[in-house]
Amino acid sequence: MRAEIISVGTEHLLGQIVDTNAPYIAKKLASLGIDVFRKTTVGDNQKRIAEVLKESLKRVDLIIITGGLGPTEDDITKEVVSEVLRERLELNKEIFTKIEERLACFKKGTKRGALKQALIPHSAKILRNKIGTAPGILLEKEKKRIFILPGVPQEMRIMMDEEVIPYLSKISKKECIKSHILKLWGIGESQVEEKIADILQNQSNPTIALLVKKEGVCIRITAKFPPDKINREIKKVEHFLRIRLGDYIYGINEESMEEVVGTLLKKKRLSVSVAESCTGGLLSHLFTNISGSSTYYQGGIVSYSNEVKSSLLKVPDKLIKEKGAVSPQVAKEMAKRVREICGSDIGIGITGIAGPTGGTPQKPVGLVYIAISTPKEEISQKFLFSGKRENIKWKASQTALDLLRKQLIKKN
Ligand code: ATP
Ligand code: MG
Repeated sequence: MRAEIISVGTEHLLGQIVDTNAPYIAKKLASLGIDVFRKTTVGDNQKRIAEVLKESLKRVDLIIITGGLGPTEDDITKEVVSEVLRERLELNKEIFTKIEERLACFKKGTKRGALKQALIPHSAKILRNKIGTAPGILLEKEKKRIFILPGVPQEMRIMMDEEVIPYLSKISKKECIKSHILKLWGIGESQVEEKIADILQNQSNPTIALLVKKEGVCIRITAKFPPDKINREIKKVEHFLRIRLGDYIYGINEESMEEVVGTLLKKKRLSVSVAESCTGGLLSHLFTNISGSSTYYQGGIVSYSNEVKSSLLKVPDKLIKEKGAVSPQVAKEMAKRVREICGSDIGIGITGIAGPTGGTPQKPVGLVYIAISTPKEEISQKFLFSGKRENIKWKASQTALDLLRKQLIKKN
């Protein structure tokens, strides 16, 4: 199937608004294996919209138009398309009532506007607009399909995802390519390879590839199937990989560790605070990378020196002297104290040697203790990370998040 996208709006031609709708639609169509041949931007002008549409109709069988579906006089897309396709506009009473109810609810809009928006081309299929007034429209004419979607990006996206894509996936028979990534932490590439050796050996479609990235080992599943089958085939492979790799998998695709942990904390209505030494605040930085993290992240203390560990965190001097600042006991105490000081449900303590100096044979560079404290239990784990100072700080922070993630899913 070949497609063209038409963005309607004089504001685009005046350079006042950047067209973000067309790229969104283009990506979605590409994922379905539908070739987009052209993208046109046209002003709110009857003659020029009609010209563009007629040209597109000569070239392709799928046209997606956005913009100009609103209630005002300058919104003319539906009217022009109906004229070009010789469609009569008819008042749809159901839509009219829905718009009126919505407008009454928000105390805005006019009856005239509602009447205009409820005019629907005679043979059109109506696409639901969940968050706005203008319904989307699908016209099927002589094997051509024309979608008219609202210009407002949020409305267009929901309609595209929930109405247009499901419709097109059913009719697009062409094979498309899709990748799905599983992200793992706390396991090396060769260990992953060993655990899934037989799956790797027998792969054909979908294919499986291992990639080592800063955020951990990633398994990329790439499938080539018709759109209606592709997700099912990817899920099948994902299912087998999850059986083998279990909790090592922390996220998929764009998901970051801090996002995954944030979602779990939110779901469980738990709050967290952190006491960091060798990570120097990096863990707090990661937590607060997520918008809305204030609902679960209470705060942190970067207790880098022994003095601050004892003065601010109240870790007993004696304990630091006896066990050393880099010890499981101090990590546990840091986690407990910061939880109490911040009044959070969970406390995390990190202490270690980021290097390159400061290591000893007993306590080498890369040695890190991470502790998690809750009113019910305290755990502490020892890690030995390799790499440069920055790598060690990063690995320690990610591992702390991962440890918390595992605790949170364990209690499920
Ligand atoms: P309305 O009911 O608001 O009139 P509409 O469906 O008629 O909606 P337009 O009037 O074309 O759509 O656009 C409404 C607003 O949506 C524009 O002012 C602009 O902010 C945004 N918009 C429209 N088209 C695009 C686009 N292609 N890319 C990004 N933003 C857009
Ligand atoms: Mg408008």
